[in-house]
Amino acid sequence: MPETVRTADERGRTRSLEALPKAHVHLHVDGAYPREAVTRLAAGKGLSFPFPDRFTDVWHFFDEYGRVPALVDSLGELAMLCRALVVEQAAQGVLYLEPAIEPQLYAPRLGTLTEVMDVMLEAFADAAAPFDIEVGSLVTVNTDSDLEVAEPLARLAVTRAGAGVTGFATACFVEPAGLIRFADAAAIARSAGLPVVSHAGQTGGPESVLEALDDLGATRISHGFRAVESEPLLDRLAAEGILCDVCPVSNVRLGVVPSLAAHPAPKLVAHGVGVTLNADDPLWFDSTVTDQYAIARDIWSFDDGALADLAATAMRIPGMSAGTRARFAAALTEWRRAPQIQTEETTA
Ligand SMILES: [Zn+2]
Repeated sequence: MPETVRTADERGRTRSLEALPKAHVHLHVDGAYPREAVTRLAAGKGLSFPFPDRFTDVWHFFDEYGRVPALVDSLGELAMLCRALVVEQAAQGVLYLEPAIEPQLYAPRLGTLTEVMDVMLEAFADAAAPFDIEVGSLVTVNTDSDLEVAEPLARLAVTRAGAGVTGFATACFVEPAGLIRFADAAAIARSAGLPVVSHAGQTGGPESVLEALDDLGATRISHGFRAVESEPLLDRLAAEGILCDVCPVSNVRLGVVPSLAAHPAPKLVAHGVGVTLNADDPLWFDSTVTDQYAIARDIWSFDDGALADLAATAMRIPGMSAGTRARFAAALTEWRRAPQIQTEETTA
């Protein structure tokens, strides 16, 4: 962690953030597999797989990120990593997991787009079955590289709507990303009832968020925190119920926010914008979804009621089934009623 956080002793009594029911809805699957699973896969090939403590810049990060898809040599290995991800997230108290998947990172090397996607969806479903976790996937295109594949992927996503796919998404780092180029792909998804989720407002200002809303019809923004630079945009996000899936540690590690204390997420919440907390690329940042809630508690001074309200925001995500939503609500009620305890929990 890049900052020292207050411990539970300094802050007083609290409830366990491990036990808090959580959704985790902004994570890139190739940057989220458990370290142990990736390291073991590499070791089986006679390779070491070191993780850098810091990234010199975002391009260094992307170079490192690409090492994981390159390590995977078969659909069986891909399935193993996807299953390991679900098991790890379930152990962290995640009841609803919605990873961004990019089958094009593995196709056509390991199989067709359809074959790769189906292997991922099946692995998620198989791994989730024994646990109290539901998985929905956001079929995702990278706006830097995936213009050609965007419409085929959107059409493929539509065929798996209600069968593991819960949305269509765009990812980018450089903004504005020229999202209008992806408007047709987004329209294909929307016309079949798949919501569109778009990265925006991470490195670009309010105009980038407007691009996602107006050109793609996005109903959720990945990051979105730079909306705080525009009062009218904040008003619109709140009024239209647009959620911002923010990732505090990622933002600091990639240098787009100077510190966790300076993160704009509390301002979004104070303005009535729905915010979820996420780890983005936990494999690389070595920070869990639970750690993000610890930041909210220890650095942003959210009390347990505010933390529960924050966790509850994810129940507005349409991919979450009615059954999971009911379980989530019941678990939150139980958490709010649980006695506060002196916990050893800390993000340090
Ligand atoms: Zn992201």
